[in-house]
Amino acid sequence: MFNIVLFGAPGAGKGTQAVMIAEKFELMHLSTGDILRKEISAGSELGKLAQQYTDSGEFVPDDVIVDVIRSQMEQNSHVKGFIFDGFPRTIAQAEALDKMMNKYRLTISSVLALEVATEELVKRLQIRGESSGRADDLSIDVIRNRIDVYNQKTKPLIDYYHAQNKYCPVDGIGEIAEIFGRLCSSIEGLLNTP
Ligand code: AMP
Repeated sequence: MFNIVLFGAPGAGKGTQAVMIAEKFELMHLSTGDILRKEISAGSELGKLAQQYTDSGEFVPDDVIVDVIRSQMEQNSHVKGFIFDGFPRTIAQAEALDKMMNKYRLTISSVLALEVATEELVKRLQIRGESSGRADDLSIDVIRNRIDVYNQKTKPLIDYYHAQNKYCPVDGIGEIAEIFGRLCSSIEGLLNTP
C-alpha cells in the first residue's frame, strides 16, 4: 500500500487536490471533513455530535475522529493506498494513525503540505462560502477561529513529521493545475524511490 497525508490549513486546497491525486494514483480519498458533513446531513448520532463542533470551527474530539478513520481503514483494506485529507489534525491523531499503520504493517510515505499565506486562506474560504454555502465558510469569525485552531493544534504536526523525515512542503499558490503538477512530481519521486 502507498499512503500519503495531504496537509495544510483550511482553504489551502487539500480537498480539490486530494480528489485529483486519488484519481490519478488510484488511492482511496479519506476526508474526515467530507465524512462528517455526510453524517450531519444524514442526521446520524455521529453527525449530531460533530455539528456541535463544526459549526464554530472547533475540532471534533480525537477519539471520535480516530474511530471514523479506523473503521474506514478496516472496511477498505483491499485498496492500493489512502490519501488522508484533513486528518491527522492533532498530535494525538497523528500518534493514533502511526499506531494503526504499525498494526497493519503499513507506513505513511509522505506528508505533502500545501503552503498558503493566511490572508489568502481567508479570501479563498470567503469565496468558497459564497458558492458552496458551507456553514463554516459563511462567517468570518468562524473562518478566523478555524485558522487559529489550526495554528494552535495542527501546526505542531510540522515538527512531528519533520522528525520522521516525512514532511514535504509544496507551494500552494497558483493555478489548480499548476499546484497539482507540483504534488504529482513529489508523489512520482516517492514512487520511484526504491
Ligand atoms: P474540513 O472539511 O477538513 O475543513 O473539516 C470541517 C470541520 O470538520 C472542521 O472544522 C472540524 O470541525 C471537523 N473536522 C474535520 N476533520 C477533523 C479532524 N481530523 N479532527 C477534528 N475535527 C475535524
